[in-house]
Amino acid sequence: MENSEVGTPTEFGLKILQKLYPNIAPRAAQIHPDQTLLEEEKFSQREIDDIVKKLPNENHRDSGAKAIYTDGSKTDEGTGSAYCLLENYGIIASWQGKLDHSYSCFQTEILAIKMAIEAASSLHRPIKIWIDSLSSLMTVLNPRTHHSIVREIQTLLLSHKYIHLRWLKAHACYLGNECADQLAKEATTKGDPFFLPKPLLYLKFDIRSAAYCIWRDNWDNGETGRSTHDIVPRVSNKPVGWNREEKMFFTGHGPFPSYLHRFNLRTHENCSCGGKGDPSYYATKCWFALSWHFQTPTASLKLQWLKNILTNNLSRTRLRLLMRFICDENNLIVEDNN
Ligand SMILES: [Zn+2]
Repeated sequence: MENSEVGTPTEFGLKILQKLYPNIAPRAAQIHPDQTLLEEEKFSQREIDDIVKKLPNENHRDSGAKAIYTDGSKTDEGTGSAYCLLENYGIIASWQGKLDHSYSCFQTEILAIKMAIEAASSLHRPIKIWIDSLSSLMTVLNPRTHHSIVREIQTLLLSHKYIHLRWLKAHACYLGNECADQLAKEATTKGDPFFLPKPLLYLKFDIRSAAYCIWRDNWDNGETGRSTHDIVPRVSNKPVGWNREEKMFFTGHGPFPSYLHRFNLRTHENCSCGGKGDPSYYATKCWFALSWHFQTPTASLKLQWLKNILTNNLSRTRLRLLMRFICDENNLIVEDNN
């Protein structure tokens, strides 16, 4: 394989097709990006070379011989897989499975192939399975795939040497391929629900987004931490980047009389100077902390005032010193008058 053959999977698939089936016009390859190599698979150039060597080169003919045809379908209405067994131009057996909408086109093709091979294995005689998805066929021929269903397919093929996989051009009016296509489309709405274990990656993604939704819901609709919610309205795995003092100040969870009072650790919420001992009081009014005062914001601008502190390094330093003072001189400011 020359270097010029390196390209996107789709371009690559087209080139292989043109090489293997030169009498088919390029557009006839019918490769759709979502059907081609693969969300699941990444091939190295060497692996592709090896696989191409193994791709069986045989043109399909409607001969009436017994053969199996597979197809998968994914539309807005649903996702389906199907195969049919044809002999003498008639369907003698078929299977349709309706899949969860989360399955990709590629997975529907792979499932159809697996079901077809299982059916073929009970025939105990040589049989060809015709597939119109080149990417699926290439994946099946890749010895280093990690895809679990493809692994099962490979094991089945190894123990049933009389089953042969072949590629044929889609939408070329081959009877078997048209039947399988029709059955797969039908399966998207009418097939028996078929439950496949979901890919591990998909499950991880699913669990993570479900947990994220619960977290976001709790954060948006909770009753506590509302002032922190104003400053950090969105949940995120990325740390907000606050140091210990800033966390105490912006959440109010620190050695403030207001906080200690909430948890019945004090009988009232006032500083020993007499004012309400909450974070913004110390930052603007309490005369114990005069050295680190900020300008008092109007009520309507308080949120912006807090955000401004966070975006200014000098303000953050001043805030840290203020908090250290409050922690160190806690006896002074939270002296309980009772
Ligand atoms: Zn005070």
